Amino acid sequence: MSNRTLAILKPDCVRKNLIGTVIKHIQDASFKVLALKMVKLTNDSAGGFYEIHKERPFFNDLLAYMTSGPCVPIALEKDNAVKDFRKLIGATNPANAEEGTIRKLYAESIEQNIVHGSDSDENAAIEIAHFFTRKELLENNGL
Ligand code: GDP
Repeated sequence: MSNRTLAILKPDCVRKNLIGTVIKHIQDASFKVLALKMVKLTNDSAGGFYEIHKERPFFNDLLAYMTSGPCVPIALEKDNAVKDFRKLIGATNPANAEEGTIRKLYAESIEQNIVHGSDSDENAAIEIAHFFTRKELLENNGL
């Protein structure tokens, strides 16, 4: 079981000035921030990241949303990182998310849902590598 996952504070999170608020939830849940940056995704980068959804009817809307402003990818570390982070953020659709989860507290819709979390150890490794070099991760790992 891997101990890493990738979070992205999505453009709606940044627009609503909730970066600090959401990171506080993440750190209060004992996740360690390994690496973090602010980036504006291009269509190519967002399309590559969400390649798995390219046949879905909402794919174009998803790309428009994810490229609508800067977002904040964060590489996180904790025992059971993937599973525990998914629990912390709640269901994709905030209407179905458990009380107290980040999406229940702050998300507006199934699309504008504030935060991404990897859904498997395999995808966590791929997604972390999408945003961070090995060097960036290694340099921060001795904190
Ligand atoms: P996640 O793993 O919980 O983020 O959910 P998915 O991997 O299924 O979907 C990826 C992202 O696509 C979600 O976080 C939403 O931002 C968006 N999304 C998912 N389902 C829908 C949908 O039915 N309509 C729209 N417009 N966006 C969606």
